[in-house]
Amino acid sequence: MTMDLNAPVSTLKGVGAVRQEALKKLEISTLCELLHHFPRDYEDRRARLKIAALSPDMTAVVKAGVVSVDGGQPRFGRGRQKQAPLKLLVRDDTGVLEIIFFQGAYLAKAFSPGAEYVFYGKVAASGPMLQMIHPDFSRADEGGGREILPVYPLAAGLSQKDLRRWTEMLMPSAAQMPEPLPPDTVARNKLCGVGYALENIHYPKDRQRLQEARYRLIFEELLTLQAGLMMLKTAHDAGGEGIAARSGADGAPFVSGLPYTLTGAQQRALAEINADMESARAMNRLVQGDVGSGKTVVAAAAMYKAVKSGYQTVMMAPTETLARQHFEEFAVLFAKHGARIAYLTGNVKGIERKKTLEKLAQNEIDILIGTHAVIQADVVFANLGLVVTDEQHRFGVNQRVSLSKKGENPDILVMTATPIPRTLAFIFYGDLDISVIDERPPGRRAVITRAVDADGREAAYEFIRREIRNGNQAYVVAPLIEDSEELALRSAKGIYAELSRLFKGFSVALIHGQMKQQEKDAVMGRFYAGETDILVSTVLIEVGINVPKATVMLIENAERFGLAQLHQLRGRVGRGRRQSYCILVTENDSREAGDRARILVSTDDGFQIAEKDLELRGPGEFFGVRQHGIPGLRIASLVRHVKVLQAVRNEAAALLSEDPRLERQENEGLLAQIRKLFRTAADVGI
Ligand code: ADP
Ligand code: MG
Repeated sequence: MTMDLNAPVSTLKGVGAVRQEALKKLEISTLCELLHHFPRDYEDRRARLKIAALSPDMTAVVKAGVVSVDGGQPRFGRGRQKQAPLKLLVRDDTGVLEIIFFQGAYLAKAFSPGAEYVFYGKVAASGPMLQMIHPDFSRADEGGGREILPVYPLAAGLSQKDLRRWTEMLMPSAAQMPEPLPPDTVARNKLCGVGYALENIHYPKDRQRLQEARYRLIFEELLTLQAGLMMLKTAHDAGGEGIAARSGADGAPFVSGLPYTLTGAQQRALAEINADMESARAMNRLVQGDVGSGKTVVAAAAMYKAVKSGYQTVMMAPTETLARQHFEEFAVLFAKHGARIAYLTGNVKGIERKKTLEKLAQNEIDILIGTHAVIQADVVFANLGLVVTDEQHRFGVNQRVSLSKKGENPDILVMTATPIPRTLAFIFYGDLDISVIDERPPGRRAVITRAVDADGREAAYEFIRREIRNGNQAYVVAPLIEDSEELALRSAKGIYAELSRLFKGFSVALIHGQMKQQEKDAVMGRFYAGETDILVSTVLIEVGINVPKATVMLIENAERFGLAQLHQLRGRVGRGRRQSYCILVTENDSREAGDRARILVSTDDGFQIAEKDLELRGPGEFFGVRQHGIPGLRIASLVRHVKVLQAVRNEAAALLSEDPRLERQENEGLLAQIRKLFRTAADVGI
């Protein structure tokens, strides 16, 4: 029997007022929403193990009978009522296992001695006894003989068993669900049908089918979001834009003149940029690449092409130090190509500034590099054709827009090492195309990361001494400039004094945001030149700095920094072929600080880190999603699925160019999805 999927969940057997409320916490009020409550994991009974085969730290599925149920009753401590954990002893024909649920009183009734259950979780050891703490579980006779069972996100008052029973009841209706996507979209993108997808996301027969189902559902969700946002965008700027044509000057001499070959990912990004620049439509492209992936040279190649096409070009960087670094790097990169390069920041003043502005207005400068000083009103270009922002996440969208207003519809290229937070905003505001540089230059080794507490500092210093003796350099970063009475934190000045004492015979330098620009430049200059062994700094050093001989990054009070920031800081080392190290000194053993350190120790993949950051901080804070009125996603991730997003953008563009308001009959289903997804967003007017 099939059911009307728009009906409320209360039409399901077993859902009364109480469970209806509980489901509401999961944002489920209709059957359709229940079908779109996707499993967070699966209990794969095919991979079931015998208890004798378990060992600590493995994640396993075990089928075992309950021998005894213990505890879980309230225990009366002094004054406050405490609860003893619920302990089960379970066994199969090879051994016994202890199952523990802290605060587990409410579960006591779920287990009957003698009955068999399947437990799924991580194995731990307590003395000779193996344990599972808070495993997922289900009765062995439940699941209708299925081998792979869904594990759902739950809310108080709901059990896995409930959700499984209900989704199971919906399966026949799911299989009959009409396909919401246009048939051409399904065919072009080789998607499986919606019924197949829903069945296999909940009750997959094998991994292969699960993959197909996941891909289809991710695609559908992103397409709905993307097409909706594009429709919004068209509604917003209905005014239309002029178009600047670009001649196709040959960029090959620049690339072949480099001292290295571009990585495959760099080449792909550059090819995408070239195609944009050569097309009549103005480029609006985001280049996303992890720290050290080599974004700068890709931007430089695009700027070369713009100059050779007869245009001026500008690059805006978030800090003076970074602008200076780019300027110097570009001076080398462009030396043999005869481009005229200038530099403009807040510290370029008086006559010098006046001259630069004059030349710029008279087309005597080809490439301008600077900070946000380049968007000031009196900065006028003669013929601006390409605008680049580096480390875009440090700028507001408005600053990027102001910069592009300096030309007549110039090509726009934005670079960021922060994969997610802005992705969403970009899609929303900018309608940017995305290139991903997901490869590092050859010979790079992963940075080895260690977390230590204050007792480990001595050994860390010894390690730094050794690295310096081997011809390397080190950064030491602190959260404060000066010691503070209120905050018991390490400060850059304090550390500088300490290291100057401890590192006799070495050269230690200090840099921080309160120093004059000239001093900063001088300090950085000496560090670049290798004259300084240790650079003590505040987070000033965070963005974009590139000194290949620096192999150690020691971060004090690492608990004070966010994950993304720590990852950026760590990206200052490991930029050459030498093995590099990052040492996180943590003085506070909060769980969150521990979690962050563990993540950094375990991976140096910026995308994964961003994803974890999202988990730790929650989507609201991370994206500002709610503020932008962008609906939440159920299965797709704007972090992990950037590549799907790309296919999705092409598809959405194709659909909308044929049928801008999705009025055709075959697009009806998609339009309905869009309206549903954006239902909660404020006055979107689609
Ligand atoms: P980011 O993407 O973090 O901005 P950069 O552009 O600063 O990275 O590049 C990091 C370093 O890698 C620079 O020293 C740059 O010269 C070098 N580099 C970039 N591309 C390559 C390549 N294909 N092969 C070798 N080195 C490269
Ligand atoms: Mg960079």
